[in-house]
Amino acid sequence: MTDLDLVVRNATVVTASDTIAADVGVKDGRIAMLGQALPAAAEGIDARGKYLLPGGVDSHVHIEQDSTETGAWPGTDFHSTTVSAACGGTTTVIPFVRQTKGQSLSQAVAAYRKRPEGKAVIDYALHLIVTDPTAGVLGQELPALVEEGYTSFKVYMTYKSMMLSDYQILEVMAAARRLGAMVMVHAENADCITWLTEKLLESGRTRPKFKGVAHQPAIEREAAHRAITLAEIAAVPVLIVHVAGGEAAEMIRWAQGRGLRVLGETCPQYLFLTESDLDKQGLEGAKSVCAPPPGSEANRQALWRAMAGGVFQVYSSDHAAFRYDDPKGKLIEGPATPFHRITNGVPGVETRMPLLFSAALEGTHLDLNRLVAVAATNPAKIYGLYPRKGTIAVGSDADFAIWDPGKSVTISVGGLHDGMDYTPYEGIEVTGWPELTVSRGEIVWRDGEFTGTPGRGRFLPCERPHPINESALLDDLGVPSE
Ligand SMILES: [Zn+2]
Repeated sequence: MTDLDLVVRNATVVTASDTIAADVGVKDGRIAMLGQALPAAAEGIDARGKYLLPGGVDSHVHIEQDSTETGAWPGTDFHSTTVSAACGGTTTVIPFVRQTKGQSLSQAVAAYRKRPEGKAVIDYALHLIVTDPTAGVLGQELPALVEEGYTSFKVYMTYKSMMLSDYQILEVMAAARRLGAMVMVHAENADCITWLTEKLLESGRTRPKFKGVAHQPAIEREAAHRAITLAEIAAVPVLIVHVAGGEAAEMIRWAQGRGLRVLGETCPQYLFLTESDLDKQGLEGAKSVCAPPPGSEANRQALWRAMAGGVFQVYSSDHAAFRYDDPKGKLIEGPATPFHRITNGVPGVETRMPLLFSAALEGTHLDLNRLVAVAATNPAKIYGLYPRKGTIAVGSDADFAIWDPGKSVTISVGGLHDGMDYTPYEGIEVTGWPELTVSRGEIVWRDGEFTGTPGRGRFLPCERPHPINESALLDDLGVPSE
């Protein structure tokens, strides 16, 4: 063994399965040794009394992507978003390439791939949003893209410009089955939202809080059940993204109980915000508007129980950062913007890990091992990045953060690095914050200072998350031929 580049001594190392006292040795950007009393290194860090966690894998973030609904543009870019992620203990992000209807998916990928260049400071993979599953996309483009490391497809059941019919979703799922790709579904019933929105507007109910009525929990519950049904028929695993409602979580639990390969993701805006945040003075509620929006306090408690009960495998930020005080941001029609025209999305790539870390220290609904599972290890596994990312193991990339459990922080926009003019978590007090973040062996965040260089982040081609199954579906399911 040649000399180590970096050694972290006396850390309490937390993985999805274990909590151990160990030194961590880094060489050439990878974890080279785990053990007691490791040899000297070029740089040594003492982490006594601190936790060393794998770098977070935030597998649902939107970066440099406009809103198809309002045309708003994010107030942040690949640089500020990835700096912000690193300062919050996250070392991998997975944003989305979105196909426009009529556009070649490969062309959408080629165009989007230029955006992180020279800007990203941590590693990133990319999901594909399929909005136009033509024969060419399904038969030629997706197979080629999966080969190139784009192994997850997201489909929408709502939003005019992106939504697919149930038939089209089955076609995308069948392609994922043949190719070994993962399918992610935004589950909401589009017609219910449209109908309720019309009724609310006709009666003059336009304030941000009515977003919660237009997107009430039954809407997500129905769509989640439908997405599960489609995946069952296509015989493919499915992940229901950004689950906001306890009722949709019940559908996922039901499917899991039947042995279906259904996975669930939830986000900080549903575990830490409620409908009361949509009902703040003036248009302040717009700062918490996303789709689905946060629900009641009882709903929030139901989501925590689902987290405790193992229904959710993934905890991501769904970071979508549109500025509040900006004509291209949240309030696209100014102070008179009705709820349905407020740009959806909340920032959260930096606060995601600290919010859940604090909850894990309390220990009511999860412990630190489970935090690591849902915030790093599981997403790395589900999207084909494990064991390169998502854990502390010999041979894995040296992506980790050292957390000080003694540090109390009151979350405030001024303390964050995402370039935004608000955080929906303003004023929330958390215990614990990353004091140092290492990405591929390089210290990028230390004692309140970001030290990484723009453009150092690399594209991560993903492996196939599940075995390829090219055989004919009906034969494979044992359906007789006559
Ligand atoms: Zn999203």
